[in-house]
Amino acid sequence: MKHQTFTHHDILSVEQFSRSDLSVIMERTDDMKRLVETKGGNDSLKGKIMTALFYEPSSRTFGSFIASMQRLGGGIIPIQGVSYSSVSKGESLPDTVRTFENYSDVIVLRHPEVGSAKIAAEFAQKPVINAGDGIGEHPTQALLDFYTITQHFPRISGLTITMVGDMYNGRTIHSLAKLLSLFEGVALNFISPDLLRVSPSLLTLLKERKTPVAEYENIEGTLGETDVLYVTRVQKERFSDLAMYEKLKHRYIVTPKMLFKMKKKSIIMHPFPRVGEITMDVDLDPRAVYISEQMRNGLYVRMALLSLILRKEQ
Ligand code: ASP
Repeated sequence: MKHQTFTHHDILSVEQFSRSDLSVIMERTDDMKRLVETKGGNDSLKGKIMTALFYEPSSRTFGSFIASMQRLGGGIIPIQGVSYSSVSKGESLPDTVRTFENYSDVIVLRHPEVGSAKIAAEFAQKPVINAGDGIGEHPTQALLDFYTITQHFPRISGLTITMVGDMYNGRTIHSLAKLLSLFEGVALNFISPDLLRVSPSLLTLLKERKTPVAEYENIEGTLGETDVLYVTRVQKERFSDLAMYEKLKHRYIVTPKMLFKMKKKSIIMHPFPRVGEITMDVDLDPRAVYISEQMRNGLYVRMALLSLILRKEQ
C-alpha cells in the first residue's frame, strides 16, 4: 500500500493514518532517535520556523516540539499562555492562525475546543499539527505511545491493552484506541468509573473495526492478561462540578503490590501529568516506561513529523 505524502500536510487526527503511513513515521522516528543519540541533531530544518500556539497548559508536548525544531536547526515562535498575545484582546482563532503563518512554516496548535485544529487548518495555508483539541484527539501523543509499544512488542497484533482512568475526557485514550484499531487482534480493556466511560461513538467505531473491547469498573481482574497498562488522570479541567472530580480523581491508584499480578514482559505507560494515579515507587519497576522511554520518544516522534512535513519528499 502506498503511503500518503506528508510534505506540507496537516496532522489533525489519527484517522488520517494507514498502517503504511505508520511504518513511514516509525522508520523516521528510528532515524531521529539514532540522530539524537549519536550527534544530538542536525541542520536539516535550517531556515524553517515553527509556531507553537498553546491555548492550554502543556509541559511535554510543548517542550518536545520546541526541542524537536531546535535539534533539527529550525526556529521557533513559542506562545504558551495566550494571555500575552492578541488572543487576550479577543482575537479569533482563524485570525491568530493566519497571523502566525505569515511568520512561520508550520503551526502546532493546542486548544480547548474539539475540532479547533480542523478549523485552524481550513483557514491556514501552512500545515497545522493538532497538539490536543479539548477532549477530541491528541494524534502526536498516540504516535509516540504507539512507538513506545512497538519498542517492546514489534508485532502489535494480539496484544491486550488496558486503559485506565478518564475514558470519556481523555484525548490520548481516544487517539490511541483509534490507532490501535488498525491492527487485528488487539484487545482493548477500558477501565473507568461509570461516569467516565468511553463515548458511544468511539465504541461504535471500534466495533465497526472489529476491535475486541471490554469495559470494567475495577482494574484487578484485568492485570494478569494485560500487556500494556495505560494509565491516565481524571481530566479536572473538563469538570464543571469540582466536587465530582474530587470524588473520582483517585478511583484508581497503581501501586507496586498490583504489579505482582502483571506479566513479566508487560509495560506500564502514562501520558502524564500524573496526579497520584501511579505511586512514585512504581517508577523503580523496569516495566514502568513512562519516564524512561515514553516521554523521550515524544521528542523523536515529533522530530520525525516535523522532518516529514517540512522537508521536500526525500
Ligand atoms: N498530556 C496529555 C494531554 O494533553 C494527558 C493529560 O493531560 O492528562 O492530553
